[in-house]
Amino acid sequence: MKSICAWCKSDIGEIKEDHESFEITHGICDKCVKILLSENSKSMHEFLNSLSFPVIVIESGVKVRTGNKYAKMLLGKELSEIEDTRPGDIIECVHSHAPGGCGSDVHCKSCVIRNTVTKTFDTGKSFTNVPAYPDIEILSKVKSMCFTISTEKVGDFVLLRIDNVKENQSHPIG
Ligand SMILES: [Zn+2]
Repeated sequence: MKSICAWCKSDIGEIKEDHESFEITHGICDKCVKILLSENSKSMHEFLNSLSFPVIVIESGVKVRTGNKYAKMLLGKELSEIEDTRPGDIIECVHSHAPGGCGSDVHCKSCVIRNTVTKTFDTGKSFTNVPAYPDIEILSKVKSMCFTISTEKVGDFVLLRIDNVKENQSHPIG
């Protein structure tokens, strides 16, 4: 089967059936995997910033490791506000403002973002364009958002891509 890397768009060529060490699916090329796993944060950032869409790197425990420049633009945040947080924090999910934060609210059990990332970690399976509808809270206003997420497991990370961001409606709190 011929395939294109979903991340750098290069031709992966014929897919090898045995994927030895990494439990990744077939959407990412060896070059991207090597850069991401190099533990060299400079080359990781260069790679992430070469992508033309927002990407968040998630580590185990559903914690945010880092993001690329499009993620910073989309989220309106500096890297220091993205790294070492949780996904709910960076999108300002209303449930991340509950006591205990992102992941501890009862609503978090049905969170599409958390569940998709966790499933990717657990199974190595990648997901493409899964719709998510988080409510976010910015400047005392709740906005119902809609976007799609795609995931890919690479070593100990999950890449989380965000696309098709739309605002459904906004209303004041209360
Ligand atoms: Zn690639």
